[in-house]
Amino acid sequence: MFDYLISGAQVLLPTGLARMDLAISNGTIASIHEPAEDVPARERIDADGLTLLPGAIDTHVHVRAPAFPERGTVTTETRAAAAGGVTTILEMPVTIPTTATAEQLNIRRAHFERDTLVNFGLYAGLGGMDEAQARALRDAGAIAFKIFTTAVPSGREAEFEGLACPTEDQQYMALEAARAADLPLTVHCEHAALLKLFGQRSAGADRTEAAYMNASHPAVCETVAVAALAAMNADVGAKLHIAHVTSGRTAEVIRRFSGFSDLTAEVCPQSLYASETEVRRAGVDGKTIPPIRYEADSDALWRALADGTITQVATDHAPFDTSEKNASAGNFAAAPAGVPGLEILVPAMLDAVARQRLSMPQAWDLVSSGPARRFGLQGRKGQIAVGCDADLILVDVAADTVIRAETLQTQARGATGIYAGRRFRGKVMRTIVGGATVFSDGAITGRGGEGAFVAPA
Ligand SMILES: [Zn+2]
Repeated sequence: MFDYLISGAQVLLPTGLARMDLAISNGTIASIHEPAEDVPARERIDADGLTLLPGAIDTHVHVRAPAFPERGTVTTETRAAAAGGVTTILEMPVTIPTTATAEQLNIRRAHFERDTLVNFGLYAGLGGMDEAQARALRDAGAIAFKIFTTAVPSGREAEFEGLACPTEDQQYMALEAARAADLPLTVHCEHAALLKLFGQRSAGADRTEAAYMNASHPAVCETVAVAALAAMNADVGAKLHIAHVTSGRTAEVIRRFSGFSDLTAEVCPQSLYASETEVRRAGVDGKTIPPIRYEADSDALWRALADGTITQVATDHAPFDTSEKNASAGNFAAAPAGVPGLEILVPAMLDAVARQRLSMPQAWDLVSSGPARRFGLQGRKGQIAVGCDADLILVDVAADTVIRAETLQTQARGATGIYAGRRFRGKVMRTIVGGATVFSDGAITGRGGEGAFVAPA
């Protein structure tokens, strides 16, 4: 007797799409078989006309909890993940206090475990650490490390303990420590000295204009930082992962380092689906760092996804309370940087499949199996196979998702300007986490606590 039987769906298997029935027992995939009448199950889910996919694994998420509850809580943001078809989030260490010790990691783990609707892994900061400290964080269950190649943003010292590595010697040592712990090192890449130069040059620029962001944070800062890290990592051999690539030139640098440095990279939906034009329309809602760039960059990033240069799509989900964004309306220098993405990712990828920019296996390698491989979750997550965790989504590839603030779960629903009214082809109908349905037919059904802590194998 199985717990659940999902019947009638097209199922994305490692070999491609096939019409199969799938049974779940004890939170794992227990059977994948040809449709049959007499399979005993406690609950049957009729999925005729739907597609069954591995849940998305978003490797770049900021919930920040337990700090900053006004910007979102474990409950609000993992509800957003559930509604968005994201069954695992990897949560960044930028919070107060920074996740930079095993003790802090354990406190955050306990805080998330109580309320989370989806699985979660926790990043740790790494800057200034030696190899023994890095191994201690790995032993506590850190999923990966994070650093920035930039200085600490002024006034945010408490959030950035051990995260800022603005010089190459610091970055080189961070790569060494990550290698010693055998965990990925995810890097926010903007070259600190160039950033300072362009900051000075744009000091007199009009801060009410979206163009201020690309003037003060031009793509060359990103491209140079990525090239330097890739070159250093050819020497060190860590698992280097580049966060939120925004420009075509950076994608070209990554392409040229292929096979020479152990390098993976992610792009965010906002860099694929928006350009400075949308930011001009949305105002500071569309402020991100590094910034959303130009249509030519979006085109180059789509090509880099299609040819395998960029290996992941992740959101950099960073919710801000509307009042916080509004307080800096019209001031791109002062506004908080970040857009919500957990409810965008899966519809955006389904839309890319519907428009034949990517095949379904390609798209799901970018948001599920690829992330699982890179972050040590392979064999448990990221694919539909017997024995894997039952982290699954049912989607309707023929229905549309229209992004409207009032139907989003994230606390940052008011700050979705770049997506307001956007119609994506493809819709999440049901989200299953560890065998439990946490979202179904437009409503949250999880009560919290369904998700589990994930650590690398
Ligand atoms: Zn981020």
